[in-house]
Amino acid sequence: MRTIGLLGGMSWESSAEYYRLLNNETRRRLGGHHCAKSVLLTVDFAEIEAMQRAGEWEKAGHHLASAAVTLQEAGADMVLLCTNTMHRVAETVEAAIDVPFVHLVDATARRVANAGVRRVGLLATRFTMEMDFYRTRMERHGVEVLVPDGPDRTLVHDVIYQELTQGLIEPFSRDAYRRVIAALERRGAEAVILGCTEITLLIGPADSPLPVFDSTLIHVETAVGLALRPDA
Ligand code: GLU
Repeated sequence: MRTIGLLGGMSWESSAEYYRLLNNETRRRLGGHHCAKSVLLTVDFAEIEAMQRAGEWEKAGHHLASAAVTLQEAGADMVLLCTNTMHRVAETVEAAIDVPFVHLVDATARRVANAGVRRVGLLATRFTMEMDFYRTRMERHGVEVLVPDGPDRTLVHDVIYQELTQGLIEPFSRDAYRRVIAALERRGAEAVILGCTEITLLIGPADSPLPVFDSTLIHVETAVGLALRPDA
């Protein structure tokens, strides 16, 4: 079994979910007392969030690249950057390490494309919804991305930063997200990506009028598949 390296803390609320899911998935596949071999490195999200707000993406990229090297030195056979937003600097992180980088956007895009979905709604931070890096990566896999309109993007973003990354799960925000998904459906979305690793803490398939692709779960399943590949 290969050792999974988690570059977490963005936020730790979602890193805890990654840890739970990857051990669950390993037990589901291997049974008994099996769990995933893993190393978790937690950065301080306050520092990352400040760099996001200041637009210091290059600085953030170097910060995360050095954390990824530490994970590799600690025995990680692969690295997962446990946040959609910071895939804005995925290339810098990937270039710093020798072990495989399990790209969250590619993993999610492949899952969406394989399901035959061609036009998908995206719920994520403002950075992920409005910058190009996510959309263009999805388009490479033949998937068109629809983002919510302006006021809905603000709502989705604010719930992530003011509630979910601070451990607050509010039923009225779940209702608000449902309305945002319904609006995406009216505009032609066939499914919706939970494109922020905390959204899975707020909504699941049963809460959504559209099929959901949960980026956290997909990222974990992809990593466990790689960790348990027979040549590993
Ligand atoms: N975890 C979130 C994401 O998947 C947001 C926190 C961050 O900005 O990294 O985008």
